[in-house]
Amino acid sequence: MADVPLLRCFVDGQWLKTPERFANINPVNGQLVNQVCAADTSVVQRAVEAANRASQDTWKTLNVNERAALLHRIADGIERRFDDFVQAEVMDTGRPMHQARSLDVARGIANFRTFADLIKTASSEMFEGIAPDGGRTLNYVTRKPLGIVGIISPWNLPLLLLTWKIAPALAMGNCVVAKPSEETPSSATLLAEVIQGAGLPRGVFNLIHGFGPGAAGEFLSTHPDIAAITFTGESRTGSAIMKAAAEGVKEVSFELGGKNAAVVFADADFEAAISGIMRSSFTNAGQVCLCSERVYVERPLFDRFVDRLKTRCEELVLSYPDDPDVDMGPLISQQHRDKVLSYYQLAREEGARIVTGGGIPIFGDERDQGAYVQPTILTGLPDSARCMREEIFGPVCHVAPFDTEAEVIARVNDSDYGLAACIWTTELSRAHRVAGQIETGMVWVNTWFTRDLRTPFGGGKLSGIGREGGRYSLDFYSDISTICIKI
Ligand code: NAD
Repeated sequence: MADVPLLRCFVDGQWLKTPERFANINPVNGQLVNQVCAADTSVVQRAVEAANRASQDTWKTLNVNERAALLHRIADGIERRFDDFVQAEVMDTGRPMHQARSLDVARGIANFRTFADLIKTASSEMFEGIAPDGGRTLNYVTRKPLGIVGIISPWNLPLLLLTWKIAPALAMGNCVVAKPSEETPSSATLLAEVIQGAGLPRGVFNLIHGFGPGAAGEFLSTHPDIAAITFTGESRTGSAIMKAAAEGVKEVSFELGGKNAAVVFADADFEAAISGIMRSSFTNAGQVCLCSERVYVERPLFDRFVDRLKTRCEELVLSYPDDPDVDMGPLISQQHRDKVLSYYQLAREEGARIVTGGGIPIFGDERDQGAYVQPTILTGLPDSARCMREEIFGPVCHVAPFDTEAEVIARVNDSDYGLAACIWTTELSRAHRVAGQIETGMVWVNTWFTRDLRTPFGGGKLSGIGREGGRYSLDFYSDISTICIKI
């Protein structure tokens, strides 16, 4: 076996080697990156017990300034090891290095700083009421820690999505057992090192590696001492975790899949809309839950739009992560590529026209052992086609014409998912009118993936349960309790 680093679990302030190991593969060239220690039931049990002890101990008694200072120390620690985090994200995912720098690691830092600052300004409700004897009462709302939060995260934006949950969970005084995706263990392991260095009491933060069903993920979500599960991943997995969590009536927050639409009206700024759809369909090789896989273009613009999008798509540079010109890296794994390619094939069978792409690029070098796939544009499918209804999660969009505003709103809403949408128009009243009628948790107008971390994030239908972000995170990660005092 190649001599590669061994990633361990971090439990009760200690680094644990476990007998069961799995391989982490670089999707650029199929080479082994590291071996990872998988947590079995006994390791999950130790992590939960450690978190339990820590939650009875000093952590929840720290005042808000002390907790905020520790969160800022974690952010400082990521900043100090910025390049190591970039390297870890790139090795696990093959994404462009410039993306890892500007998005993934930058957001990892911002997540800790945002919640550190937010808890210092968090307010609560207070009502003056009337007591049975006609006197007065004061009723006010407090947020107490939930206890132990189980965090299960996916591979597509590993550090960003993991820290999006760890930061508010810790900020509100909870202890954490986190399980990153088995595909992306590296930045999570670095994060545990940084958290250890920041001086959190032992057991407050625990990291376990491993798979989902019948493994670490399932052991965590079924553990009776976990108070809440926050999960980002596929809708089907969310459903399985919800069943598991039902036994203990645990709180759940789910950020799940999407089949997001983008709508381009004829009055849109043409080039801005083209660039916007290029971003919203092909960023991170389409492996962002918010990506637009359904694009609706007003008919007068349709042919010109498809032509221009095709040209831009064919200009995308598929390359190594450290190539300064790279636009798109590989998919996360060959297994995921097989899934995406099966949808390209299904699209053909369903009668789609492949405008561009539809296969695997040939490089003639080690990248042919990786998981690259061609960015692909489809047209000609009915809204009822499976490729129009199921999340593909690759660099692919279908472009369809539409004639009226009412028609396109109905078609956008005709989906089992309800995560996000974007609208391209220069008409102000239309932007408000259409955005207000779209059944998704987020609507962007003339932009995409622009996030203010103080705002709620999440979706309805198959796209999730609840919202996180800003005070919505503070609410989820707290046991909200009312105190009534007769005065
Ligand atoms: P996934 O559901 O396969 O896995 C996510 C995590 O769940 C992994 O850590 C995995 O090990 C774990 N897991 C799997 N089965 C489990 C089980 N039965 N019990 C407990 N844990 C289990 O998702 P993925 O393939 O890693 O990520 C891609 C999916 O995530 C896409 O559907 C995408 O849309 C979605 N996603 C959603 C958002 C959002 O905010 N809505 C953000 C990013 C990704």
